[in-house]
Amino acid sequence: MFDTLSERLSGTLRDLRGKGRLSETDIDATAREIRIALLEADVALPVVRSFIAKVKERAKGAEVSQALNPAQQVVKIVNEELIGILGGETRRLALAKEPPSVIMLAGLQGSGKTTLAGKLAYWLHNQGHTPLLVAADLQRPNAVNQLQIVGERAGVPTFAPHPGASATAGADPSLGPGDPVEVARHGVQHARDKMYDVVIVDTAGRLGVDEELMRQAADIRDAVQPDETLFVVDAMIGQDAVATAEAFRDGVGFTGVVLTKLDGDARGGAALSVREVTGQPILFASNGEKLADFDVFHPDRMASRILGMGDLLTLIEQAEQVFDAEQSAKTAAKIGTGELTLEDFLEQMLAIRKMGPIGNILGMLPGANTGQMKDALAQVDDKQLDRLQAIIRGMTPAERADPKIINGSRRLRIANGSGVTVSDINDLVNRFFEARKMMKQMAGQLGFGGTQRQSK
Ligand code: GDP
Repeated sequence: MFDTLSERLSGTLRDLRGKGRLSETDIDATAREIRIALLEADVALPVVRSFIAKVKERAKGAEVSQALNPAQQVVKIVNEELIGILGGETRRLALAKEPPSVIMLAGLQGSGKTTLAGKLAYWLHNQGHTPLLVAADLQRPNAVNQLQIVGERAGVPTFAPHPGASATAGADPSLGPGDPVEVARHGVQHARDKMYDVVIVDTAGRLGVDEELMRQAADIRDAVQPDETLFVVDAMIGQDAVATAEAFRDGVGFTGVVLTKLDGDARGGAALSVREVTGQPILFASNGEKLADFDVFHPDRMASRILGMGDLLTLIEQAEQVFDAEQSAKTAAKIGTGELTLEDFLEQMLAIRKMGPIGNILGMLPGANTGQMKDALAQVDDKQLDRLQAIIRGMTPAERADPKIINGSRRLRIANGSGVTVSDINDLVNRFFEARKMMKQMAGQLGFGGTQRQSK
């Protein structure tokens, strides 16, 4: 899911990164690319329109033109707006103060309701709750049995009508164990009597939206007074998801959405549209057929995943907190002219270290969880940084400002003072000179800092 969208969006944003200042034309071109990517991913048109309008407005405003790195600021805006579409803050399941809490599931047949009932029960059970499943889907042959099976797997009991008592479409819905409304009502009463603290009511779906389906779901809702009504939607059904969601919102009403089959390879626009169109938050995401293939839905993590960014955003935010913009600009200029000193180096290192253990910081970079990078991260050691700091602190201000003056006798003095060997000092000084040269070259290529020309 989202692979194509993710590739296109991250490609578009990557193209921006090479640029220093952004013109209106750059921003319009980027907005156009993002628009195409979203439409191709099947995101509903009104959602795409309002998204693009917001991104454009912000990208042309002061927050970008005054940013240290305008392209990165645009990435941040796109990410923030994406989180907004997906619902902003993570919305937790709202359980009742007085148990039992009642959670009713509604959605089309095949959307994954029964499977989800089992996953939700399993998840709640693992958190110390005592859930009860209630089989009020008497429409589909075998639905009761299927729920009992997932319940057993989850280690959670199922309240079901007597075997063979399933109602068929058109049966008198007024009474009896075959009446889904009565089954739901009895199920909740049973939970109350037996002290189950959460009741999950699985209801019938149809292949398409129809009046009978809505009426039955609304009757069950009135009978059990759910704390949460979750609309379960298959993320693979594309644009239809929006119309279905609207029909359920108007016919039954729901307090939250569950996206299923996020493991599929469809374009995923449904997932991006349903929250914005219905105004209700996405609570959970289901991504496979196994009980454990289920998670709380975090808009920020999903946005990150779509943009292929790792947790880069947390990193940028943390950096914003510890780096002073003016100071950073000065350092950047010094990098450009090759005047960076060991004093600057020490300051930057101290700022970075305020952000936490270095392994964690690097671990937030995109690609950190893959092959080579993962191995390299395992080698990173905060103690090495401590040692570098100790060495630099052992130098005089003159030495830090101009490391070229650090001759043999000074090296011996610094080594003795900071408890390391002369070869450690040589290592540090040589690496510093190399890094300074490399950074100056890079700064020249990127067009920032005091020089535009690449040093030879
Ligand atoms: P219901 O009619 O709404 O109760 O739907 P079911 O729970 O019976 O699910 C319909 C089909 O979708 C079944 O074959 C499930 O195994 C499958 N399914 C449900 N959730 C997921 C999911 O998250 N990923 C995948 N790949 N399949 C799922």
